Amino acid sequence: MISDKMKGFVANSSAIRAMFEEGKKLAAQYGADKVYDFSLGNPNIPAPPAVKDAILEILDKEDPVLVHGYMNNSGYDDVRDTLAAHLNALYGTDYGKDNIVMTVGAAGGLNVILKSILNPGDEVLTVKPYFGEYRSYVGNFDGVLVEAATDPETFYPDIRDMEAKLSARTRAVILNTPNNPTGVIYPESSLKEVAALLKRKSEEFGAPIYLISDEPYREIAYDGAEVPWIPSLYRDTIVGYSYSKTLSLPGERIGFLVIPSGLADFADVIAAANVANRILGFVNAPSLMQRVAARCCDARADVAYYDRNRTLLYESLTRFGYTCVKPEGAFYLWVKSPEEDERAFCAKCKEEERILIVPGRSFGCAGFVRIAYCVAYQTIENALPGFERVAKSYGL
Ligand code: PLP
Repeated sequence: MISDKMKGFVANSSAIRAMFEEGKKLAAQYGADKVYDFSLGNPNIPAPPAVKDAILEILDKEDPVLVHGYMNNSGYDDVRDTLAAHLNALYGTDYGKDNIVMTVGAAGGLNVILKSILNPGDEVLTVKPYFGEYRSYVGNFDGVLVEAATDPETFYPDIRDMEAKLSARTRAVILNTPNNPTGVIYPESSLKEVAALLKRKSEEFGAPIYLISDEPYREIAYDGAEVPWIPSLYRDTIVGYSYSKTLSLPGERIGFLVIPSGLADFADVIAAANVANRILGFVNAPSLMQRVAARCCDARADVAYYDRNRTLLYESLTRFGYTCVKPEGAFYLWVKSPEEDERAFCAKCKEEERILIVPGRSFGCAGFVRIAYCVAYQTIENALPGFERVAKSYGL
């Protein structure tokens, strides 16, 4: 018998994963080249060559007992030193190893920090649309995920609605930029408004409201777009970083948290994060991948590849009459559903054209769909006639 809580999680298990499984079934039935699966944010480009070089060199040259052993729950000291220095060079900060906790991807980092700060019933605010797993992560610690609106044109946080939804129980706000699913990068002006609001509300409620900046797509930005470093705008920011997308290593489960020294209750939070990493069962982030991360600070996935996909998909769908948000980062296209119930639109795409896309309600935002374009260019080319036929059937 499973727990009541898990029954709820299983029942609400991610529609995106379900779609991914369905894609595999359709591929077995019709052939992989006849199924256009845009459901999952699984990078389809290989890790940059620097990753393989680093793995080989580490295995060849470093002490195997050290490379595969346990270490401090926060991660290897030398790795955290290197990553702190890398961030300092980029953002003019003065982090040291004590500000870095190596994690099992962004998902691990978010769970570590939420475990560290939430009491049952505490609230975590995020803005719609958002990565649907936040519901589970907050639910893991009996927190309550509260949704605030974004501006319907820009999809930037709606400050007034955020203000209305913040309460004395709000322990944290999670923001994700570049955003999954909209592809929007929040500009500094918008983040400054968020920062001013959180500062004011923290003072009003007499307790810090942490801003958790979930940043797996930080390095995937187009047309030279800047992704602001949020800790420079708001003191009580914790950054959750991941190599899943930047280095195309989603299965290797590696990332880190940045917990700046000026953060409210810094010593307690860092100690709690360290212990949370252990008692959640992660113990520490994967050891070999920590060492790879330190050697690959400047390596990047091929952003030009995603950019080419972005251009083809955005321009074509716009030409067919769909209303799309032009992505500035990440690798998702956010499209207004041509009919009110976007699930019907997704079902039509799947049944008539074997195109798999995800309903916006998985991201807390009905009436839209998400198309993940971290796929082969040819998959997009081959799917375009289907997208066009569907557009015509709606009279777009
Ligand atoms: N946060 C966002 C916004 C994501 O899109 C994802 C993965 O798609 C994650 C967190 C989890 O990433 P990771 O693989 O690093 O755990």
